[in-house]
Amino acid sequence: MADRVWETPETCYMEKLSALAHREMLEAQGFAVTEDVADIPTALIGEAGEGGPVIAFLGEYDALAGLSQKAGLSHHEPIVAGANGHGCGHNLLGSASLLAATALKDWLEETGTPGRVRYYGCPAEEGGAAKAFMVRAGAFEDVDIAISWHPSNFAGVQRETSLANCRIDFSFTGRAAHAAAVPELGRSALDAVELMNVGVNYMREHMPSDCRIHYAVLDAGGISPNVVQAYAKVRYVVRAPELPGLLSLIERVKKVAEGAALMTETKVESTILAGVSNLIVNTPLMDVMQDVWDSIGPPPFDEEDRIFAEKIRATLTPEDISASWSQERLEERDVPLADFILPAHSENRQMGGSTDVGDVSWVVPTVQAYGATLAVGTQLHTWQVVAQGKSPLAHKGMISAAKAMAATGLAAIESEQLREAAWADLKRRRKGQVYTSPIPPGAKPPVAAMTVK
Ligand SMILES: [Zn+2]
Repeated sequence: MADRVWETPETCYMEKLSALAHREMLEAQGFAVTEDVADIPTALIGEAGEGGPVIAFLGEYDALAGLSQKAGLSHHEPIVAGANGHGCGHNLLGSASLLAATALKDWLEETGTPGRVRYYGCPAEEGGAAKAFMVRAGAFEDVDIAISWHPSNFAGVQRETSLANCRIDFSFTGRAAHAAAVPELGRSALDAVELMNVGVNYMREHMPSDCRIHYAVLDAGGISPNVVQAYAKVRYVVRAPELPGLLSLIERVKKVAEGAALMTETKVESTILAGVSNLIVNTPLMDVMQDVWDSIGPPPFDEEDRIFAEKIRATLTPEDISASWSQERLEERDVPLADFILPAHSENRQMGGSTDVGDVSWVVPTVQAYGATLAVGTQLHTWQVVAQGKSPLAHKGMISAAKAMAATGLAAIESEQLREAAWADLKRRRKGQVYTSPIPPGAKPPVAAMTVK
């Protein structure tokens, strides 16, 4: 199934064939399938079992634009130049989570143990925040424990927290005019976008250094310099370590936008497209998953896998390879593939990016694995990830990640004490804050908006 999904790379909310592959597999394995979760056509849930606790396995299957690449090669060669590709390994991500759900379901059946297993097919992880919409729709309300993973250079427990983020479009409306004959009659929306960006760039010095703001001009008002641009649009991504800090930073960005509109006598409207919360890790679940990984050990890579991984590594820079080791705070070693399990080290590390697993982690104790599916040094969102996405080494890394997730889920089903400890840890880490969805009330999943690149 991972190979099938690799063959049909689909982006953000457009994952029709990929969701179909998951639905067919869930039905073949005896899961009852619910589609259109949270009114998202490519989101689905498969459930099996009766009574007992509910264990959720989260899967993803969205691809990335512009990363088309032939499988098994160690040089850059797109299948179709500019087309989509599985540059984040989500073809493996959904498949391993479904495999883990199936293994646990089979165990429940064989042993007659009460308990329910759910596979959550979550689209649009890359920028679409589908899980945040699914959380808002109540899809996780009765879940006891959530488990997921991500393809990586290494195998082990994922201990990083991630940033909360929000995508906002700012649309400025001015008045068109002949830019030479009657410029005084024009009010430039493009000027407003430029001034907003300048204002935000000045604000950077006076915001917390662990926050991030990026922007992309979606519409510069046309191609005619001799027309005062009556309309312009800029998309912002605002990130902060925690949700409350994010919400206050968004308000400051909005003030800058209003200031730009005031200066240019234009009007501004802001639309929040999507947002995700920061990730909350869970100590009791990470401890259990660490024990599981230590007993499973690294994937059974063979000589052929190492030869292919070496070829991929020859396309990487020494900086790429060093970054992989230093991100995990490990001493660099000259191995093409991870031959060890990540040790249990300090957990309060922040990864630069964001994930919509964050929203699930605010409402359900959540734990995630890393699976070793890539030559050491491979960076995500590159052609090298796509090239390795159907390889035997990726399959091995994927299957061992499924084992780690299934065994962690099994421990959670068997131990009420573990589930209670996980919930107590989540409450402690929320520090009395209630989950506030970063998505404004009434906002719908941006299924259509995301199709416009
Ligand atoms: Zn990813």
